[in-house]
Amino acid sequence: MDEEMAADKNRSVPDFKLLKPTEIKSYLDQYVIGQEEAKRVVSVAVYNHYKRIFHQKKAKDDDVEIEKANIIIVGETGTGKTLLARTIAKMLNVPFCIADATALTEAGYVGEDVESILARLLQVADYNVAAAEQGIVFIDEIDKIARKSDNPSITRDVSGEGVQQALLKMLEGAIVNVPPQGGRKHPEQKMIQINTQNILFITGGAFDGIEKKIANRLQTNVIGFKSTRSEPIDKENILQYISPVDLKSYGLIPELVGRLPIVTFMHALDRATLKRILVEPKNSLTRQYIKLFELDNIKLSFDKNALDFIVDKAIEFKLGARGLRSILEAVMTDEMFELPSQEATKSLRVTLNYVEKSYRKSSMARLRVA
Ligand code: ADP
Repeated sequence: MDEEMAADKNRSVPDFKLLKPTEIKSYLDQYVIGQEEAKRVVSVAVYNHYKRIFHQKKAKDDDVEIEKANIIIVGETGTGKTLLARTIAKMLNVPFCIADATALTEAGYVGEDVESILARLLQVADYNVAAAEQGIVFIDEIDKIARKSDNPSITRDVSGEGVQQALLKMLEGAIVNVPPQGGRKHPEQKMIQINTQNILFITGGAFDGIEKKIANRLQTNVIGFKSTRSEPIDKENILQYISPVDLKSYGLIPELVGRLPIVTFMHALDRATLKRILVEPKNSLTRQYIKLFELDNIKLSFDKNALDFIVDKAIEFKLGARGLRSILEAVMTDEMFELPSQEATKSLRVTLNYVEKSYRKSSMARLRVA
């Protein structure tokens, strides 16, 4: 209790102006293409989270205490989950770090303790504890620590359930002792206390096969009870019906699901979205290349059908948005090598013919996807 009081006193109000949810969403729109539902849900969640922190400072003893609400985003890899979390942190200018749930282990086992996540956040915050305590942590691949069996009475599963238990205390807002250098704890090492009450945790995972569980649940509901749903179920986009129940049946322990009350999802990226991703974001790949060439006084432009070709290849390689970068890199390398030393060249137009040719020459073309 004393510890908590001390931590409370040190807590400071964040030094940013809190934008309204619609403003947060507009900011996200500049970087994250599509994913409208997720952006709306996250905008509201982030607004409420920081509003709660601002309020804490002024709160009187008899005030209603607003509990922290962490977020879980379900969606295939490469659909923008990390990007969304990172963009929020960038907007707020708060410390941000990414952790991979698969690297974590229960205390005492080989691997990273969950405290290492906070050590990283502290590092990013330049060891400013107050700043770290208002930061954002993105935990990726949370689905990979799901319990392997639906039956909780079955032998304890070290890789999954133990880690979920270990994560719980951070997600619920405990004060955690963090080894400042990260890694393993040493008895003689001085620990730094981090209050996780105001740290926003955004978790993400692909949850392969969860659609089946959602569909089953929807089906049962329809048969078991008189359906209250006014619209028919959109079978093509089952993920939009994701609910905490499905996360539980996938193998997340109920306590953890309870600490991740904000559940949202990401759509798979279709051709049209991939194409928009190439050009629309404020720091889109094409804009980045244009900038790179501009620094050498070369005006770079892309033909539409050249971009279509790149999108087609990304789909063919099943690489999603991540593939766009490697393919673009592969086709641009020759020119990036040659052009800076050619004084006379002042512009480069990337045509379909050009990308086809340089793609064929590149090592990517020799890759085969199983
Ligand atoms: P995830 O975390 O879902 O696996 P990422 O956020 O790491 O995916 O996405 C990988 C990269 O693909 C990002 O850095 C970004 O360049 C691009 N990308 C993915 N989805 C989107 C999107 N919806 N809008 C803009 N860029 C995206």
